[in-house]
Amino acid sequence: MKPCPEFEALILDRAAGELLAPADGAALDQHLVGCPGCRAEDRGAREALSLVTLPAPSPEEHAALDAALAQHLPAAWRKAEARRSFRRGAWAGLAAAAAAVALYLVMPRAPAHSATEFPPLPPGAAAEVETWALGDPLAETVEAATTPAAPEPTEALDPQTYADLYLNPGE
Ligand SMILES: [Zn+2]
Repeated sequence: MKPCPEFEALILDRAAGELLAPADGAALDQHLVGCPGCRAEDRGAREALSLVTLPAPSPEEHAALDAALAQHLPAAWRKAEARRSFRRGAWAGLAAAAAAVALYLVMPRAPAHSATEFPPLPPGAAAEVETWALGDPLAETVEAATTPAAPEPTEALDPQTYADLYLNPGE
């Protein structure tokens, strides 16, 4: 008996340990109740994949793995590092250009994609946000973050000069 094509991929993904989207998982569970073909596929896939799942390594295998890693990791790291610096030098400009092109290619699809995930704004919401933004609500935060802290007045700086510089600038 063959599984339904629209559920086959979901069955295999889940049997392989992949987390399905909640809606997909629920739809699959519901479908399995009434579909012997998909149920058989589900059971078969789980059994097959549990056979290829390896048992936990023994202490000896752990030790051998650690030794192998210690021996090979430094060389692998040096190789990767050499590749990285080569890329950084020779290909940085090309990579930046490729990234720009990739971004350009991806951009037009973005609005259509997000439209399926976000509900439309309620009427008036955009205007409300605009009004809020026009009130410059972050001005104080930005000012506090960008204004250097005033130093303590010193004897070299008389109180009036200090006040002119730090307390009432522009007055
Ligand atoms: Zn089915």
